[in-house]
Amino acid sequence: MSAREPVLSVRELTVTFPTPRGPVRAVDGLGFEVHRGRTLGIVGESGSGKSVTSLAVMGLHTGASVTGSITLGGRELTGLPERDLNRLRGRKMAMIFQDPLSSLHPYYTVGEQIAEHHRVHFRSGRRAARERAVEALGEVGIPEPRRRAREYPHQFSGGMRQRVMIAMALACEPELLIADEPTTALDVTVQAQILELIARLQEERGLAVIMITHDLGVVARVAHDVLVMYGGRSVERAPVDTLFAEPAHPYTRALLDSLPRLDDSDEEPLRVIPGSPPSLLTPAPGCAFAPRCSRPADAPAEERSRCESELPLLDGPAGHPAACHFPAYEGMAP
Ligand code: ADP
Ligand code: MG
Repeated sequence: MSAREPVLSVRELTVTFPTPRGPVRAVDGLGFEVHRGRTLGIVGESGSGKSVTSLAVMGLHTGASVTGSITLGGRELTGLPERDLNRLRGRKMAMIFQDPLSSLHPYYTVGEQIAEHHRVHFRSGRRAARERAVEALGEVGIPEPRRRAREYPHQFSGGMRQRVMIAMALACEPELLIADEPTTALDVTVQAQILELIARLQEERGLAVIMITHDLGVVARVAHDVLVMYGGRSVERAPVDTLFAEPAHPYTRALLDSLPRLDDSDEEPLRVIPGSPPSLLTPAPGCAFAPRCSRPADAPAEERSRCESELPLLDGPAGHPAACHFPAYEGMAP
């Protein structure tokens, strides 16, 4: 794989769940790339399809139909037999979740679990795997790793447990790490430590990272590039500085407006975007964000009707496309 080839490339990804009320298209025509040593932040409100996207990349979608292309190191993953996917999972790509307890077995020590994971993927001997586990726990900043390796998941705090998950994920030296809301359940101080840890490990190992979050604050801390999702589609993509300085899509601007500010008084309630997420069961013909968009309030009727009837496609400058008929690019009237 050449240095400039992306580690992960996703094209026209669509994930549809059959439900009693009809097909639910949770992800629709999504595309993005992640490069070595880079972090892609995927941000969007709850229900926008972030987790479904990550599970599809990992090949963990159950009962859904997946179309499009997902290539890891140039190799097509869609349609790969389960056995081959299993081998790649953990070995080439690994994932951490919001709740580490859901992925850790309560009856085995954390050392045993990391060692087992390593043994499966590297066919290493028990002793070597155990040593590797202790080493991995040390690398993620767990004090006294040899002693802690003999403890059970419930003996760890939330933050330390997330470190254990990261140790497990990285024990097999994957090229891609997907972190799905890894700090959402943690308090702010611990959250900052975990994000710092991920950033450090990434830099040391040249990992490609996907950081999934509903929190633009997290994106600002760790992401190099950002993909904004709304209703299963990408609505804007940009380098992180550009996204914060010149958000082109009204949804991105609304997300930024809802970020707490340093000068906000404690009494002021957090601003949320009015309205509710779009229906995935019966998608509207036009822009999914139109009913909540602040822009059309004083826009001419014909512009408003375009937003309501014509689906905006991701378009615009190559490094900063937005799916909006009236994007707010620099020098353009919003
Ligand atoms: P988030 O951005 O919060 O991670 P998800 O990716 O978990 O959102 O889910 C996006 C949407 O996909 C959900 O709102 C739901 O409508 C749909 N969805 C997810 N999983 C299933 C499923 N197993 N069956 C039917 N619909 C699903
Ligand atoms: Mg999620």
